[in-house]
Amino acid sequence: MKYISTRGNGERLDSAEAIIHGLAGDGGLFVPEEIPKVSTDFVEGLSTLSYEERAEKVLGLFLTDYTKEEIKDCVERAYGSGKFDDEKRAPLSVFEDVSVLELWHGPTSAFKDMALQLLPRLMSTALRKTGEKAEVLILVATSGDTGKAALEGFRDVEQTKIAVFYPEGGVSRIQRLQMITQKGGNVKVIAVKGNFDDAQNGVKRIFGDEACKEKLLKKNVKLSSANSINWGRLVPQIVYYFSAYADLLSSGKIRQGEEIDVTVPTGNFGDILAAYYAKLMGLPIHKLICASNANNVLTDFLRTGVYDRNREFFKTITPSMDILISSNLERLLYHVTGDTAKVRGWMEQLGKTGRYDVGAGVLAKIQELFWADCADDAQTKAQIRKVYGEKRYVPDTHTAVAWAVAENYRRQVEDSHAMVVVSTASPYKFNASVLSALDVATEGMDEFALLDALKEKSGMVIPKGLDSLRTADILHGDVCEKEGMEAAVLSFAAEPRK
Ligand SMILES: *Cc1c(COP(=O)(O)O)cnc(C)c1O
Repeated sequence: MKYISTRGNGERLDSAEAIIHGLAGDGGLFVPEEIPKVSTDFVEGLSTLSYEERAEKVLGLFLTDYTKEEIKDCVERAYGSGKFDDEKRAPLSVFEDVSVLELWHGPTSAFKDMALQLLPRLMSTALRKTGEKAEVLILVATSGDTGKAALEGFRDVEQTKIAVFYPEGGVSRIQRLQMITQKGGNVKVIAVKGNFDDAQNGVKRIFGDEACKEKLLKKNVKLSSANSINWGRLVPQIVYYFSAYADLLSSGKIRQGEEIDVTVPTGNFGDILAAYYAKLMGLPIHKLICASNANNVLTDFLRTGVYDRNREFFKTITPSMDILISSNLERLLYHVTGDTAKVRGWMEQLGKTGRYDVGAGVLAKIQELFWADCADDAQTKAQIRKVYGEKRYVPDTHTAVAWAVAENYRRQVEDSHAMVVVSTASPYKFNASVLSALDVATEGMDEFALLDALKEKSGMVIPKGLDSLRTADILHGDVCEKEGMEAAVLSFAAEPRK
């Protein structure tokens, strides 16, 4: 299977090369040249397998230049013993009306672990396979969860270094603490004076800056990305939709071949795009429901066909979804149109004017598959309260956005398919907002008192990675201006590994 750019520069790479490069040479994203198809037997056969075995089967269809042994080794290191606190890795909590796919049982308590435990393994294997001698420097812009998950995934991985930029004040206190206590001899954490888009644009600018890349090459350093624009980030996410379906089958909630709906709390459009790939492959998914917060640029796009980032930016209680440019949408546009010239044109317009319009025909195709809605902070909190009241289950804020939108969908659209709500973070990662939604007074409490208060309210075990922050040393304190990101990268590239 070869990978090509969404913007049509003619590159045609193996997956290992696409994973090393991250972004295509023309600024486009790598997409598989064709989509592998699976049978209902393939899907049913997954039911009796472990998560790791399911992953090997699904990944093998896309990473055809990796050997079976290489994939097995990567998967076992990523999801194997001790890393996840649930033996199913991505367990389903099945209720009468919805099933909740919990993707936050990994080391950093957010769904980003599902991909970012695997990507570094795929990347170091790719470096070995292709005989690449340079050191790869991973640049990450994070709205919170990606940063920590990437740091944890790449920490001390051979032939790699990682620099993470987060918007100062744009992540939760727990998220910040998780990052600035990161250990590892190849890691750097820097706060940017700006919002997430500033950080992401800064990283994109560096990726597009030939002079900067030239300077890095002289130091034998090549750049790559761990953001969900990297194919190696996206492909592991396809697995858990298959896994969820297999678990629904074995729980008797659905019959073989029966379609399901999926609601995904969306930011950069990676998670829901993975569900779209699963559907293209033949996994019986009926509707893909895109849930946004007050930064509802995707809701508007999926309703009107006009993508317009020229709008107020809100800081919400779902910071991992506070995004105005959803990079992975470009992949969807490519697959829906198959027209790289069009995609390139829209992305140029987005760069120049912040806006593009895909037109009625493309919109109609997209709407056959997708439905979209949004929930603001008040609705998100109300949903947490409602779910707790009805089910004694405590969703995190991002999950609550999806849950609220799933219920809106049910009210507005006649559709009786089994509903999977994707749960992307442990409630402990956003404890202050969750507690406030549950009317627990939190005034004057520090981070750790909040953890304890949520434990008392929810009865859930505090994840190890968060509990251990109580005694962790602060190791990172760098802050830079938007314009200072390149200099920070060059200086880190020159630092010896510790
Ligand atoms: C990253 C993230 C999202 C959004 O996922 P995308 O793939 O960027 O759409 C939602 N919730 C949480 C908790 C996240 O960390």
